[in-house]
Amino acid sequence: MLAALARLFLDAVAPKRCAGCDAVSDRSICANCDASMHALPLPAVRRMRQGSGFAAFEFTGPVRAALHRGKYGGDRQALSELAAMTTSRLGGPRLFTPDAVVAVPLGLRRRRQRGYNQAELIASVIAEARDVPVFDDLVRTRDTPPQTARDEATRRGNVAGAFAWTGKALDGAYLWLVDDVLTTGATVEAAAATLADAGASLIDVVVVAAVS
Ligand SMILES: [Zn+2]
Repeated sequence: MLAALARLFLDAVAPKRCAGCDAVSDRSICANCDASMHALPLPAVRRMRQGSGFAAFEFTGPVRAALHRGKYGGDRQALSELAAMTTSRLGGPRLFTPDAVVAVPLGLRRRRQRGYNQAELIASVIAEARDVPVFDDLVRTRDTPPQTARDEATRRGNVAGAFAWTGKALDGAYLWLVDDVLTTGATVEAAAATLADAGASLIDVVVVAAVS
């Protein structure tokens, strides 16, 4: 309790810092990081089983730092800014506007620990920018172990059957499946397969950053 009060007090008096480079900044992404992030090249489009994978950034430098702060440090403002940059960088002829946006869900345990799902937050900003709905009927039926440092067959086995669609039939919909980071793709492939089973015709994966 005292520690929480002390933290509240410190948050109130401490200068705000950029989520990308930790410099003192009144914006959650400072002007320097904003400019350097805008100058970065777009990662190559990745071929996925149900569509293509589009990332606004490579998972390095200030993007990586800001995503980390957004995911583990409770900095939702940084996530919102990254999501807004993602929509503007992925605009234009590369991507058609979808019928709806779906966030990769977190398991209940992790969602409780973190208090929010970073993918949902990013998806809501993207959906608003494109003026399309968010479908929140994709659920995780069980928690899966973190996907790092496992061979591909193991990773695929870990997430197989980890998702379920609880909404109405998707009737040939074109969807964007949104997550914060695209690593091996095993998780989003499993989620996309569930959406395809529910009737979606094309599922493009849209993320802030991809690990190349
Ligand atoms: Zn910065």
